[in-house]
Amino acid sequence: MDTAQYWLIAPSSWSLLLDARQLVPAADFPPGLSNLSLTVDRIPLPLLDKQPADAFGLTIRLQKPLGAASQPFQMRSTRTLTPGYWPWLAWLAWAVASGLLVAGAAAWQRSRADARRQQEQARLAAMARLSTLGEMAAGIAHELNQPLTAILAHTGAAGRLLDDDDERPAVRHALLASSEQAKRAADIISRMRALVQPSSPARREALDPDALVASLRFLREPDLARQGIRLGWHNASPGARPLGDRVALEQILHNLVQNAADALADTDGPRHIQIEGRAEGDEYLFIVSDTGGGIAADALPRLFAPFYTTRPQGMGLGLALCDTLAGSMDGRIAARNLHPCGACFTVSLPRSGASP
Ligand code: ADP
Repeated sequence: MDTAQYWLIAPSSWSLLLDARQLVPAADFPPGLSNLSLTVDRIPLPLLDKQPADAFGLTIRLQKPLGAASQPFQMRSTRTLTPGYWPWLAWLAWAVASGLLVAGAAAWQRSRADARRQQEQARLAAMARLSTLGEMAAGIAHELNQPLTAILAHTGAAGRLLDDDDERPAVRHALLASSEQAKRAADIISRMRALVQPSSPARREALDPDALVASLRFLREPDLARQGIRLGWHNASPGARPLGDRVALEQILHNLVQNAADALADTDGPRHIQIEGRAEGDEYLFIVSDTGGGIAADALPRLFAPFYTTRPQGMGLGLALCDTLAGSMDGRIAARNLHPCGACFTVSLPRSGASP
């Protein structure tokens, strides 16, 4: 006989056939229930079978004995929470909230680190300024000491010779020499001033490179020719105009030519200074090269530092001033050595008509 069917027989001989499968209509099972079976005499009788037994997910099992102790019914119910039931939205919200929290904490930490880094950089910059100031003060003292000692010596000698009429030419010479030294001291001070506060904001005008170099050549050529130095000029981009301050640019080129002439003084080979003008991208370049001995490798990184010099009579302010002046015109200056000999300085300035 079907295990789902039972006969209930009353003493009055009424009998009732029960069919377990019909006890609860399928629609009356609560929606949360997936599988339900009733075990009578160890034979499981499936009443509800909405999920396959091997469904993937989290399985919840419930087992409860029903009926009398003499004839127990085991009710077993299982429900597998498949991925479709999982609270994806809540999990997503939780993941997003945690992600935001972690990202916020990381950003906060980063901004704290940035602020600390900025403070540290400001502290280092302040220290660097202080030490540069110290170096400059020491440099000024050193530079001024020489002419002032010479002035003292010359004026002292002149004073001693004054009483003797025959020594008049020597007195004149001593006074001239001391006034030369006083000029040198004044020159040092004025270069220092120019270096520390470059003349009022640099003007920006479109300059004519040919006219600029022509005036430089007019001023320097006789003096250079005496030293056997040839000064050449080539404008590779004739129509192009650098933007800058004429006086500042003249000063830069003048210093570079003077440095090249100083470097050529010790050369036996050809003595040639070449200036080239060329537009490159948004810039106009002045390239000053010479056929001297070039720059020592250890000097290259310090070349533009104030008071760095390798020349006995040098002040070490020329290139520092060039650097400051080029910067005041939104330009820059760089140095490199040439092969087989010589040094090359490139001044880059914004070009008129180029996109800003
Ligand atoms: P100064 O001319 O008083 O020495 P500068 O700042 O003009 O000061 O130059 C610094 C140093 O750079 C020089 O002492 C020299 O060693 C080096 N230098 C500059 N120009 C040249 C060059 N054309 N060739 C080789 N060395 C150079």
